[in-house]
Amino acid sequence: MTQVAEPDTTTSATEPGRVSHWINGRLVEGTSGRRGDVYDPATGVLARHVDFASADEVAAAVAAARAAFPGWRATSLSKRTDVLFKIRNLVEAHRHELAAHLTAEHGKVPSDALGEIARGLENLEFACGIPNLLKGGFTEQASTGVDVYQIRQPLGVVAGITPFNFPAMVPMWMFATAIACGNTFILKPSEKDPSASIFMAELLKEAGLPDGVFNVIHGDKVAVDAILEHPDIAAVSFVGSTPIARYIYETGTSHGKRVQALGGAKNHMIVLPDADIDMAADAAVSAGYGSAGERCMAIATVVAVGDVADPLVDAISKRLPKVKVGPGSDPDAEMGPLVTRQHRDKVAGYLDSSKEQGATIVADGREHPLYGDSEGFFLGVSLIDNVTTTMDAYRDEIFGPVLTVVRVKTYDEAVKLINENPYGNGTAIFTRDGGAARQFQFEVNAGMVGINVPIPVPVAYYSFGGWKASLFGDLHMYGPEGIQFYTRAKIVTSRWPDPGTSKVDLGFPRTR
Ligand code: NAD
Repeated sequence: MTQVAEPDTTTSATEPGRVSHWINGRLVEGTSGRRGDVYDPATGVLARHVDFASADEVAAAVAAARAAFPGWRATSLSKRTDVLFKIRNLVEAHRHELAAHLTAEHGKVPSDALGEIARGLENLEFACGIPNLLKGGFTEQASTGVDVYQIRQPLGVVAGITPFNFPAMVPMWMFATAIACGNTFILKPSEKDPSASIFMAELLKEAGLPDGVFNVIHGDKVAVDAILEHPDIAAVSFVGSTPIARYIYETGTSHGKRVQALGGAKNHMIVLPDADIDMAADAAVSAGYGSAGERCMAIATVVAVGDVADPLVDAISKRLPKVKVGPGSDPDAEMGPLVTRQHRDKVAGYLDSSKEQGATIVADGREHPLYGDSEGFFLGVSLIDNVTTTMDAYRDEIFGPVLTVVRVKTYDEAVKLINENPYGNGTAIFTRDGGAARQFQFEVNAGMVGINVPIPVPVAYYSFGGWKASLFGDLHMYGPEGIQFYTRAKIVTSRWPDPGTSKVDLGFPRTR
């Protein structure tokens, strides 16, 4: 059984019950007079408040990050690596406390919270290889006596704006690479679960990261807009819903910033008639209901091809009563509550609209006892069959423990469905046919593809990103593309004095 520590909010705020900003290596109480409510989703209790920053408070964080940049940029790669190793080790050593913050404010159960941290740690481990990752190319004797080489340099102050569903991992996707490259960083975490970011800031300081290199500003649109408009912020990474991602991309780039903005998703899992039904059903249940469906890589839609539909729906529905829903304090719980009451109710609303629009409700999560009997934001697992592309449950990103099944006759119909969907984050195919799988990876319009793997989140030495409305910008997040995003190339052409070889030449420089 996993030991889970109670989150100590007194170490993460200037007063119990209050989450403040982190600027220049210390907690700074907000002065805007604006704040947000943070709930414990498992009990429905208002747990604490989070300060909301004004544009002036954002500017103070930017000033600290700007002041820290020259020193951090000049810090040797071996020293930066040393700090990153220490950060990695501290996050690992304190993973249970960090997980407790995630459970307390997001609601995910400890095993899931620890999984999130493990995936975040991968990014820190990748960043520990920064001396190798920043190696440029060198061309000797490009012309007689002339060498050419490339160096990659940090951008300056960069910002990350993150969603509620991964309060530790998604910030790590960003800051691990950004600070390894020599940038200084401002994090604007989700206002729904802000404490993990302050806990991580404390660990970064303990690891020896100089003050001002990592800052946290809490808030809403006011803080986000201040980031997007601030002239001293060179780049913005965003992860969240599609409408906000589009806004961040358009506003940030119109202010001259480099922007990568990852949006929402609607991930399809195709099951071909030759698939291993048990494997596919296990995968659909794990990927559909893990983290209460609040994952951007969650499977939302199972596309059952041909006569696989009946046995597959049967196999999935047989597994549903075994999914243990409960609070993170229950060591047996596999799925926790949703993040807010409002979100839980919105998700539950899709059960009514689906029924009205002609779908079959195989399992209704509102029948789970915790839905009615608890003050927490619980909803049991739901399965909706015979969903069509015109229904709300298909068109919208539900982001909850609701799995929908669309039945199609052929593989071609299934692929067309995915390729015509506005989102293109992850997708998966379940089959024993290597040729079909290869054809699928070749022609499907999505950024991350699983073959008998339902949640194909790339390992940290590849990069994460969707296509279409799931990503605005050119570069995917973390991994090699993250290094590219957080650095700019400089190409140096050099020649050293060689007596007697120089002459005046007004022609365009030639290499021959
Ligand atoms: P969200 O878009 O509501 O919020 C994300 C961030 O944007 C938060 O920090 C929030 O404070 C800020 N924000 C919200 N409204 C804003 C506004 N009007 N103006 C400026 N900033 C605003 O997303 P969420 O509900 O926190 O997270 C869930 C969403 O994130 C889902 O759509 C999910 O698919 C997506 N997501 C995508 C990925 C991915 O990698 N593609 C990963 C995780 C989550």
